[in-house]
Parts: sequence; structure tokens; C-alpha cells
Amino acid sequence: MRQITDISQLKEAIRQYQSEGKSIGFVPTMGFLHEGHLTLADKARQENDVVVMSIFVNPAQFGPNEDFEAYPRDIERDAALAENAGVDILFTPDAHDMYPGKKNVTIHVERRTGVLCGRSREGHFDGVAIVLTKLFNLVQPTRAYFGLKDAQQVAVVDGLISDFFMDIELVAVDTVREEDGLAKSSRNVYLTAEERKEAPKLYRALQTSAELIRAGERDPEAVIKAAKEIIDTTSGTIDYVELYSYPELEPVNKIEGKIILAVAVAFSKARLIDNIIIDIREMERI
Ligand code: AMP
Repeated sequence: MRQITDISQLKEAIRQYQSEGKSIGFVPTMGFLHEGHLTLADKARQENDVVVMSIFVNPAQFGPNEDFEAYPRDIERDAALAENAGVDILFTPDAHDMYPGKKNVTIHVERRTGVLCGRSREGHFDGVAIVLTKLFNLVQPTRAYFGLKDAQQVAVVDGLISDFFMDIELVAVDTVREEDGLAKSSRNVYLTAEERKEAPKLYRALQTSAELIRAGERDPEAVIKAAKEIIDTTSGTIDYVELYSYPELEPVNKIEGKIILAVAVAFSKARLIDNIIIDIREMERI
């Protein structure tokens, strides 16, 4: 594995791969790697000739009162894990190279951002779209791998790729969980011992609601209420528990088609998100 920080060196390596006709699988991350990230890398390994992973804690996607400074970082450990996962290039750019001087152009994401994390984290998805456009231009991936833990991000990236005619196949990967159901996240290290015990209730709440849907409930409010009741028994503060169509993220009066039930809960030092996506048509066929 090569670790590259310099942008021109990355471009050179990509040109080389392209001249050899190799397919490139790309896994963008913010580091502090866990099994979720490594599952994306595994999948990229299986489906492409080479794998490029980036680690970049992107300042543009953090709000002024968010945890940019405190975001956990451990590049040495990450490099060992990435190498073990079969990553060929680990791209670790510097912020001043990714954002040199004043920007000439910005990107504003119009759709799929007025709800969920897009509503509570103003500008977050603009920052995501900007950095991914830069990274996609640098890496020129055949396929890019994203986790459904961040399902709104997947929906936004889907819109970005299609609006700008990017020749990239978006691969969405199921959420990887701890044994007790808690979605793996770099931010889990900031849960206190007490909060860590409560945190699996997020997924339990989602599962309980999914059960209701499976039993025939089609009223979004009833499903949301059931999830809220469980999350309310934690010490966290609910940011949202919402249900939308997926991937359009539009409100629904009745549960049908493909929907997402998503939650965000703020604990003392970590804000956790989780979701489940249910395709009612598939459920009804079973
Ligand atoms: P992050 O480093 O948090 O920006 O995440 C990088 C990528 O890994 C994103 O596409 C995330 O959706 C994905 N990811 C993070 N946690 C998980 C997880 N528990 N399961 C699957 N993918 C994940």
C-alpha cells in the first residue's frame, strides 16, 4: 500500500492505473477506521482491480459548533488497517491543498437536504458535495462505496453523480453493527459507559417500528411514535425521528413504496444517527 498526501503524486498514480486499463474502487472516509469502513474497502477489493481509500476530515462539512477539532484521528492505526484490508492507495491530503485560497466555485445541494441531518446541520451536505466532487475528480473512480448508515448522504451523492453526469457507479453498503445492534461509528468512542449501554436502543427502536410496519401499520405517525417512546428512555436528546420516501426524502402520508425511518440522538459528547430502509413492495411480495 502507498500512502499519498501530495495531490500531484495521486494524479500520477491514477494516470498509471488508467493507462493499464484498471478499474478503480474508491472509499472516501474521515478515518478512525472501524469495521464499517473496512467492509466498504472489502467490497471495493472484490469488485475492482485497485482500491483507493481517502482519509480526510473535511472542514467544509462541519458547522461552527460541531466537532471538527475533536473528531477522533489516528492515522498510523488507520494506515495499518487499510493495508490489511487490501487498500492500494491511502490518500491523506492536507486541508490547505484541498482548499487552497479563496474558492472560485461553490456547490449548493438543492434537494434531499431539507430534512434529517440536512436540516439540523446547515451547509453540511454542501460541504460533502464539494469535497466529493474534488475527490472524484482526483481519483476518477469506476465505483465509489458509501455506507447506508449515512443514507441521506447516499441520496445526496446519487443526485450529485447524476446531475453532473459523473461516470461513477455508486455502491451503497448495508450498515455494519456491533453485536448489540449499535451502528459502528467513529464517534462511538465519545459515548460514556452509561450512554454506550443505552445506545443500542436506537436500533431497537427502529426494529420495533419495522415490526409494526410488517404487521400492517401504514400510518407514519404511529410508527414514529413507537420509535420515539423507546428512544425517550435513554438519556440522549432526540434531534429527529422521521420517516420519508427513499431516496427522494419526501414526506409521506401513508407508508408505501420504499421508505426510510431515520433517527438522530444527541448524547453528551456524541450525536448518533441510525436508520432503516424498508421496501414495502418487497415485504408484501414475501
Ligand atoms: P465517515 O468516515 O464517517 O465519513 O464514513 C466513511 C464511509 O463509511 C461513509 O460512506 C459511511 O457511510 C461509511 N460508514 C460509516 N459507518 C458505517 C457503518 N457502521 N456501516 C457501513 N458503513 C459505514
